[in-house]
Amino acid sequence: MQRSSDALPTQPLLADSLGSRKRPVCNACASEVVRLRNVRSPIDGRYYALYECKRCRSRSFDAHEHQTDLAALYDSLAEASAQTYELPFQRSSYWSHEVAFIRRMLGREPVSVLDAGCRTGDFLLHWPETVRRVGVELSHRSAQIAGRRGLAVHEMQLEDLQIHDRFEIVTCYAILEHLTAPRQFLAKLADLVQEGGVLAVLVPSFETLKARALEAVGYRWHMYRPPEHLNLYSRPFLDTYLAQEGFSLVARRYTSGGTFNPLGRVPLLGKAFAKAMWLVDANSPLHLVPVFDHMYAYYRLGTERRRRSAQ
Ligand SMILES: [Zn+2]
Repeated sequence: MQRSSDALPTQPLLADSLGSRKRPVCNACASEVVRLRNVRSPIDGRYYALYECKRCRSRSFDAHEHQTDLAALYDSLAEASAQTYELPFQRSSYWSHEVAFIRRMLGREPVSVLDAGCRTGDFLLHWPETVRRVGVELSHRSAQIAGRRGLAVHEMQLEDLQIHDRFEIVTCYAILEHLTAPRQFLAKLADLVQEGGVLAVLVPSFETLKARALEAVGYRWHMYRPPEHLNLYSRPFLDTYLAQEGFSLVARRYTSGGTFNPLGRVPLLGKAFAKAMWLVDANSPLHLVPVFDHMYAYYRLGTERRRRSAQ
């Protein structure tokens, strides 16, 4: 938790800081939004209006509230973690746990897995080579590494993917909050799942005890990171949107995602706390209730794909 810089802003809300520009609509469902408050971005130090949708209750920032070069932002973020890119692939207990969870849900080994936003392929590589493993990745450098690791990687926007078959498992971890056009992306994601298959998403959730508690005591929830994070989806939005596509919710769980560590800077103790949190995340029944803010949701597509509504 970053303290001083995370306190909520004290500057008053301006009556109409958008000036003559059009009021934004909900990124998720395109309905009317209301302004909740101003949030100071930890990325660029500027204030962004946080909006809540009147209809689906999702929250969003307007990516264009300030002039921003998103490509440059992502380049600099990639640069900051560049040293981790070339590390040899290593199995992790985190991804092994996720793969085991999905396998149990499906009841067998899947034939095919597609990971939207696969980065360097770490998740996909936890599936055996006998599974058809396909990644979609926008970052050239990440896509190249994933390709060198033996994965089939499409370096492009998911929406532009021209692929005629569908996948038994489609996953999307920590991508949906970043999108400037989430509706098109979500539609494509749902479309890639084959009948009877599973769609797994990871999103930050403000409908959790941690996010609510931070806000109650006047701190910025750390997932409010405009213009990097633009969309915070409500549970009803995700469930309803996917139900209209023919999906039903199979499981939902919540973890700290390894980000909750008040002892993070203390040698040894920080590491011990991280290990303890991992055990809580992986094994305790706490993950069944919305306490921590990393929300994993798993949906199964019925045997009949529904026609998309005009939402
Ligand atoms: Zn909405």
